[in-house]
Amino acid sequence: MLIVFIGPPGSGKGTQSKRLLEYLRIGHLSTGELLREAKAAGTPLGKLAADYMDRGRLVPDNLVLEMVAEKLGDDRYQAGCMFDGFPRTLAQARSFDEMLAKLGTPLDIALELRADKDELVSRMLKRAAAEGRPDDNPQTIAHRFEVYRQQTSPLLDYYRFKGILSVIDAMGTPDDVFTRIKTAVEKRRKT
Ligand code: AMP
Repeated sequence: MLIVFIGPPGSGKGTQSKRLLEYLRIGHLSTGELLREAKAAGTPLGKLAADYMDRGRLVPDNLVLEMVAEKLGDDRYQAGCMFDGFPRTLAQARSFDEMLAKLGTPLDIALELRADKDELVSRMLKRAAAEGRPDDNPQTIAHRFEVYRQQTSPLLDYYRFKGILSVIDAMGTPDDVFTRIKTAVEKRRKT
């Protein structure tokens, strides 16, 4: 089963996708995590991506697509995977569909985590205090919301049109949200 997770900053994508992959026992590919690793390791990709990430901007599509294409070569991901934080733009979504068409493994479901903005900002400020991520300061947070609205939210219509979008209410406790996600995924598995 191939799943994409879409949600604004602070919507719990990371936490929920980890829980879902433990439940489904499939691979997990988080472009944010891979980019943070590349940055920490000081690889050429990490160096190119660092400035965009620290400013809360999207890393250019070609860099992200190359990184994902390399990972998709691994059978582990083709057997089943959750894509977390990818795709983030329509161009990424279209190229991703082309890659998957070549592999003969189309996406099964796009999960959108939806929550109100005040709740999301408060969660992110808490995370900033706990984890000290450099892109979790108030100015960058505001910018990341804007990037989401402008560049990522068009994906929702793209996947809705394909008939694979499931909207998940991301308000409430992590357990409540996870129950909703499981229900949506099980429904899709049966179709
Ligand atoms: P995340 O952990 O998914 O919130 O990603 C953290 C940062 O990594 C983002 O603010 C972007 O700068 C970068 N990033 C992660 N995934 C992507 C992507 N699919 N396309 C472009 N930039 C990305």
